[in-house]
Amino acid sequence: IWLPVGVVLGLAIAAGLLMYIRSRSSLVGQLRYAIRRRQLQVHYQPIVDLATRRCIGAEALVRWPQARDVMVRPDVFVPLAEDNQLIQPLTDLVLDLVCKDMATLLQLRSDLYVSINLAAIDLSTDRFCAVLKRTLAACSIEPQRIAIEATERGFMHAQTAVGIIQQLRQMGHRVLIDDFGTGYSGLSYLQTFQVDVLKIDKSFIDTVGTEAATASVAPHIVEIGHSLHLKMIAEGVESEAQAAWLVAHGVQSGQGWLFGKPMPAQAFLDYLNNERQRTRHV
Ligand code: C2E
Ligand code: MG
Ligand code: MG
Ligand code: MG
Repeated sequence: IWLPVGVVLGLAIAAGLLMYIRSRSSLVGQLRYAIRRRQLQVHYQPIVDLATRRCIGAEALVRWPQARDVMVRPDVFVPLAEDNQLIQPLTDLVLDLVCKDMATLLQLRSDLYVSINLAAIDLSTDRFCAVLKRTLAACSIEPQRIAIEATERGFMHAQTAVGIIQQLRQMGHRVLIDDFGTGYSGLSYLQTFQVDVLKIDKSFIDTVGTEAATASVAPHIVEIGHSLHLKMIAEGVESEAQAAWLVAHGVQSGQGWLFGKPMPAQAFLDYLNNERQRTRHV
C-alpha cells in the first residue's frame, strides 16, 4: 500500500516543482516575483515651465531591470500586469517608491509635484484612493505634491472613473489627462467632470515646428485646452523649434528629451541642484 502512496506523493511534488519553475520562467511569473521582491524602480522625467525652463514637477515612470543590462519597457510589462491581476501591486509599489524619494526631493524643492500613472483598473474601484490617503499620511506628504495621470482609455473601461477622479481632486490631488487626443472616448467627458491639466500626446507634438505643421491637428488640440481654460503640458518635446511653437501658442509646460530624459532619483536630485546653481548665477 505504501508504494502507490509514495509514487503519488512523489508525482505531486514533482508536478508542483515543475509548476513553480514554469511560473518563475514565464515573463508574468518573473514580473510577479519582481513586484513581490520590490525590484521595480522609478525614474523621473522633468516637467518644465516652457517660458523659464524651470522644473515644476516630474513624471514617475516605472522601470523593470529584468536582468543585468536588460530593462523591459513599461509598454511591454504594464499591459502584462494589467492582464494578470498585477496592476494593483504595481501601482502600490510605484506610489511607495515615489513617496520614499519625495522626502529628499521636497527638501530641495518644496513646491515640486510628482505625477503617477494610473491604469484603468485603478480607476475601477476606490481602493486606490484609500491606499493613497493612507500612504501619504504615513510619510506626511501633502496631496498637492502627488498628481495623478489618467488616460481617456481609463474612463472608457471603468464606469466608476468619473467618481474616482472627482474624489482624487477633492482629496487635493491634481488630475492630468495623459496622452490627450489619442483616446476614442470623445470629448464629452471634459464637460462632465473637472480635470486640471491636459497632457498633449507626443504624436501631436512631433510635427509642430516643422514644415508638416500646417496640416497638423496640434493647433486644434491646443485650442480645445484654451477654450476649456485648462493648463497644458506638451509631451515628447525634443527640439527648440517645438518649444518655441508651444510658447507662441500659449502652452505653459513641457516634458521631453529637450529638457531631460527619465532618470533615477539621484540623477534627478542632481538635475534640480544644477538648476538651482544655474538660476543663482543669473
Ligand atoms: P506616458 O505616461 O505617456 O509616458 C511618456 C513616455 O514618453 C515615457 O515612456 C517617456 O520616457 C517617453 N518620452 C518622454 N519624452 C520623450 C521624448 O522627448 N522623446 C521620446 N521619444 N520619448 C519621450 P516610457 O517611460 O517608456 O513609458 C511608456 C508608458 O508606460 C507611459 O506612457 C505609461 O503609459 C506607461 N507607464 C509608465 N510608468 C507607469 C506606471 O508606473 N504605471 C502605469 N500604469 N503605467 C506606466
Ligand atoms: Mg504618463
Ligand atoms: Mg503620456
Ligand atoms: Mg504617452
